[in-house]
Parts: sequence; C-alpha cells; structure tokens
Amino acid sequence: MFNQIIDSHIHLDLYSDKQRQKLLKSLDHTISGLITVSFHLESSKQNLELSREFDFIHPAFGFHPEQEILSDQELEKLFSFIIEHHNEMIAIGEVGLPYYKKQEDHTLPYEAYIEVLEQFIKLAKKLDKPIILHSIYEDAALVCNILEEYNMKNAHFHWFKGDPFTLERMMRNGYYISITPDVLYEREIIQIVRNYPLEQLMVETDGPWGFEGPFSQKMTHPSMIHTSIRAIADIKKISIEQCYQQLFNNTKYFYF
Ligand SMILES: [Zn+2]
Repeated sequence: MFNQIIDSHIHLDLYSDKQRQKLLKSLDHTISGLITVSFHLESSKQNLELSREFDFIHPAFGFHPEQEILSDQELEKLFSFIIEHHNEMIAIGEVGLPYYKKQEDHTLPYEAYIEVLEQFIKLAKKLDKPIILHSIYEDAALVCNILEEYNMKNAHFHWFKGDPFTLERMMRNGYYISITPDVLYEREIIQIVRNYPLEQLMVETDGPWGFEGPFSQKMTHPSMIHTSIRAIADIKKISIEQCYQQLFNNTKYFYF
C-alpha cells in the first residue's frame, strides 16, 4: 500500500539538539519529506543548514508573527538572507498575523504586523514561491483581502481554524490548508476536514508543538501523521490508501 507522507509544516530548529537527533534517526522510509518553517533569521539559518545536511529536508524562511515585531533593519537583514538563498528555499514561511498575542495585548500595533506581512507576500510573488501562513479566526479574512489584492494564489494556511464563510472563500481561491494530529480529537478540526475539499488538504505536525489524546506526553514526530491520515480517511469516507495518495500528491503539486 502506498503510505508515503510529507510533513508540510514542522519547526525542526525548535527541537533541542538531542530531540532533533532522535527524531531524524527514527524517520523510516515512509517519511519522504519535511518542510521546516522558520521563526526568524537565526531559525532560517539553522533550517538552511539542516537542509544542506539532509536532502529530504526543505526549508522555508520567514518571521513567525507571534512575537515582538521586527525593526526595519532586522527585516531588511532577513529579506537579504531570503533573497540570497531563495534557490535553496521551498517557500516563504512561517508568516502571518499574531492572533494569540493580540488576545493577550489589545494595544498591539496590528498595522505594523500587516505591513510586514504585505512585504512578505510581495517578496513571495517576486521570487515565485508559495507562502505559509499563520492566520486564524478573524485574521484569516484580513489575510485573504491582502492575498487577493496582490493576486497571490499559492497560499498554504497551516493549522487553519476559522469561520465557514472564510473557509468557503479560501476554497474558491484555491488555497491549501494543513491538518495536524488534533484531527483525532478536536471537533472544530474534524468539521473543517469534513467541509474542505480533499484536493486542497495537506498534513503536518507543527512539531515540536505537543498534542493531546493518544499523543499526550509524546514528543511530536512526523510519524504521527500516519494516525492523522487514518482519521482523515474516516471523516472523508474514503480508503486509507486513497487518502495517502491524494494528500501526498497535493503536497507534491503545491510545493515541488
Ligand atoms: Zn508553525
């Protein structure tokens, strides 16, 4: 049976050295690729190094929005790095808007984050690379506005959560979303999988982020995706093999 998977969103650089070694050593033949996304410049550098060491590791470079905004100078440094290494990069990411940070601090300068995101979208367009987005709930509509404004089609909303209207709009625009192992126990995610077209889905772990249910207390590992795929096949009422094949093809089509 075809059972190849690509983890479409993992933060390899955020594991401790020891954990990362353990993870990389324990990958079996079913894991054909890992897309490692970056938190900031240092993280981008580390992910680039990892991709040079292992040919199944594909780095994305970017700035995770759930942190203090970058100064113009820092942003410029990150942009030069991306431009210099764009041939080795699979996408721009992870970028987006700080939804969770805004819940804690309503005085956050959202406009500044939106401007930074716009610049990343322009850069992705210019370099002809996909973009990996952290954009959930009401932020997603805002991000859709920007993507539409720049006519940016190759958008991957990772671990998406949001309202059905925005989901509809994302579907129509041909955006992809990726599903984490919480599809085993999170009703909201199960509902999204039910509604979103199988042809626009990918799978991911967002590791080292931890999960609950059967994954509680376990180090997040790309092999957890096998369990996710069984759950997705069940929700979509298709065979497990068909589910593997389609999700693999989607990721190949979108990124490679
Ligand atoms: Zn992430």
